[in-house]
Amino acid sequence: MPADYHLHGLGHEGPPHNVERLLPFARAAHRAGLTEIGFAEHDFYLADLDFDVFARLEQCGQIKVRVGLEVDFSPDKQHWQELDGRPWDYLIGSVHAIGDWAFDYPGEEGGFASRDIDTIYADYFALVGRAAATGLFQIIGHLDLIKIYGHRPRQPVVELAEPALQLIAASGAVLELNTAGLFKPVAEIYPSPELLARAFELNIPVTISSDAHAPEEVGRQRAQAVEILRRIGYNCLATFCRRQMFTEPLA
Ligand SMILES: [Zn+2]
Ligand SMILES: [Zn+2]
Repeated sequence: MPADYHLHGLGHEGPPHNVERLLPFARAAHRAGLTEIGFAEHDFYLADLDFDVFARLEQCGQIKVRVGLEVDFSPDKQHWQELDGRPWDYLIGSVHAIGDWAFDYPGEEGGFASRDIDTIYADYFALVGRAAATGLFQIIGHLDLIKIYGHRPRQPVVELAEPALQLIAASGAVLELNTAGLFKPVAEIYPSPELLARAFELNIPVTISSDAHAPEEVGRQRAQAVEILRRIGYNCLATFCRRQMFTEPLA
């Protein structure tokens, strides 16, 4: 039952949130052979989400529809109460900024030249670890997003990520193989095979996602992600319903 849990039906354009906007994603997923999709809009669109839309989409979209949210984690932003009381199937915790430096934003690459690369990686993974330690998230988004522009640390990345991976394992959260990285300057899936191999040793489950911001991106390069997981030894994927995890055979 292949699922893609990281779809942005509102892209970066925002509302309106309606079935007409989301239906092309459901149709594209069905064509791609997926049997389950999940929307994970950026949390700055939280107030614009209409939960009835997801139920209506499932009725007409020939596919199971899950409801998630991509939470832009920052320790200064304590808006977790706003997330309560809604029927989430999962929450994705993602780090997109170190302090006020939104490092993955186009035009923000300059920040990589102005500080030590190992410090940047360590600071980034410290935030990922803090996100996991909140216990709020079922999925940790694009674990090594910090490599987006191809800047590599001097120290082995597995060492830099180890404390975050330990906290993820302890929290029970899963990692996503996010294929969007293939379409960024780094041209690699997030996270790298070496980080996944360590996650496998730590018994951290995984999902596969496209981070699609447009219908034609749904399920992109999934076969490549499946291949990487098989090579590492994974034989199942995590699925979610009302923040409970289930497992399905890898496909
Ligand atoms: Zn993200
Ligand atoms: Zn995303």
